[in-house]
Amino acid sequence: MSSDCLFCNIVERSVPATIVHETGSVLAFRDINPQAPTHVLVIPKAHHADAASMAASDPALAGEVLDIAGTVAAADGIDAAGYRLVFNTGKDGQQTVLHAHCHVLGGRGMEWPPG
Ligand code: 5GP
Ligand code: ZN
Repeated sequence: MSSDCLFCNIVERSVPATIVHETGSVLAFRDINPQAPTHVLVIPKAHHADAASMAASDPALAGEVLDIAGTVAAADGIDAAGYRLVFNTGKDGQQTVLHAHCHVLGGRGMEWPPG
């Protein structure tokens, strides 16, 4: 836990968020600036800087993040139509919060390639 990390503070409930799912090690909450009708962030409660470093140090946790991403998609009713999972990583990946998070985006048709 890092007190200057926004998502650690959401885990600690010192910053409010609309939480849609929680397990012992994973939290899912709605993005404050949604880019699609469903835009949920699925994060490990433990601080990891990005998806790859999370997977390297705790592969089971990375698997649980993906599992909960699917659970969230099903709960929002977008699993049949399809959805997009995104892990922005680093500067060129436009990662702005340096705590690993999986964007779950859906409820509209996505475009490819991404910008
Ligand atoms: P990134 O750009 O790092 O891949 O994604 C960070 C995401 O966090 C962005 O989509 C942004 O809208 C979201 N975000 C930033 N601050 C907050 C906040 O305080 N609460 C919530 N729920 N989402 C946030
Ligand atoms: Zn953090």
